[in-house]
Amino acid sequence: MKILVLNAGSSSLKYQLFNMEAGTVLAKGTCERIGAGGTITHKKSGDEPFFEEIDLPTHAVALERVLELLDSPEHGVISDIGDIDAVGHRVAHGGEKCRESTKITESVIKYLESIVPINPLHGPPAIAGIKACTEQIPGTPQVAVFDTSFYSDIEDFRYIYPIPYEFYEKDGIRRYGFHGTSHRYVSRVLADRLGRPLEELRIITCHLGNGSSITAVENGKAIDTSMGFTPQEGIIMGTRSGSIDPTVVTYLMKLKGYTPEQMEDILNKKSGLLGVSGISNDCRNLTEAAEKGDKRAGLALNIMTNGIKRYIGAYTAEMNGLDALVFTAGIGENQYNIRREVCSNMSWLGIEIDEDKNENFKRGVPFDISAEGAKVRTWIIPTDEEYMIALDTKRLAF
Ligand code: ADP
Repeated sequence: MKILVLNAGSSSLKYQLFNMEAGTVLAKGTCERIGAGGTITHKKSGDEPFFEEIDLPTHAVALERVLELLDSPEHGVISDIGDIDAVGHRVAHGGEKCRESTKITESVIKYLESIVPINPLHGPPAIAGIKACTEQIPGTPQVAVFDTSFYSDIEDFRYIYPIPYEFYEKDGIRRYGFHGTSHRYVSRVLADRLGRPLEELRIITCHLGNGSSITAVENGKAIDTSMGFTPQEGIIMGTRSGSIDPTVVTYLMKLKGYTPEQMEDILNKKSGLLGVSGISNDCRNLTEAAEKGDKRAGLALNIMTNGIKRYIGAYTAEMNGLDALVFTAGIGENQYNIRREVCSNMSWLGIEIDEDKNENFKRGVPFDISAEGAKVRTWIIPTDEEYMIALDTKRLAF
């Protein structure tokens, strides 16, 4: 069975074609600068990447080219587009109604269109990708996998913001949570590795990338998460501020005369690690700069590691204990200095890591970095949101 996974961003379309029997990726790639030029990097498994500049005015045109590449004699991996058995779409926002991954029907598309106001950046490209598939590979079943649905069972006192209730009822303002597919995937892999049922574990999963979020997973279900109405809430990120006193926003708007768009741009693209350090949003650069004595690079990293600690403490309290802690995504999987700082002075909570294992970890595979005898097991688990989407698609498409 061959499953195509699509992840449409505002100006990009990422894809992976899976062979589900073997659990392997046959080909993958990224279309970028859609609507403003266009490039494609396509990689057939085992081959060197193929790159082309090509006009990609819309996501539909990008998909057309992707399908051509997938069955082309030179770069292709299938002999006919009909060989694609199903398509799985990453959809960032499922609102309140899409509570789990679902087969796509007309009514699902209509619902996704209705929640574009609360998902203005990612909703339209995801819908465009779904409609393009309906047109270009008609009859092929499609499944939507939502970043938010892992959080469907969170209790109301954890998702309602303490502002007038009507904003929730009339405008849908609440915590939704994001990165759910990644948190769901790594918690499953962890349970598998520990050889224990997910339903018996209290886990904190730290997805630390350019965008970062932390989730408390109790008995297989997410019970709390750091991201909120948008992916802006929570810990400091590459260029996003994470949580700040909301009055700072209104104060700055009044003081500087910023428009809402300018303020959003500052909070989303000019804040976070970049804003504090003034150098970079990239944790590797900041680590290097901090080691050379750059104070603000060090400060940005301290804000991050302390912020992560806060959530670990809070979620351990919410779950009345902790069995395992997971690090994933670019920073979580690679930056041992961040893991070391987060896990330092946490022995009272039962978190103790082996310094040597943490520093000399094995890349690209699940890896236990717990100190011998530590009460809480600490693991690095490479995330694979696309594979999780492919698994859901296989389960729901037919
Ligand atoms: P995104 O949220 O864009 O998917 P990633 O998960 O790729 O982000 O994470 C990017 C972050 O991970 C950057 O801060 C980067 O410095 C850090 N990082 C550290 N080592 C690596 C690595 N080997 N590969 C990718 N990212 C890394």
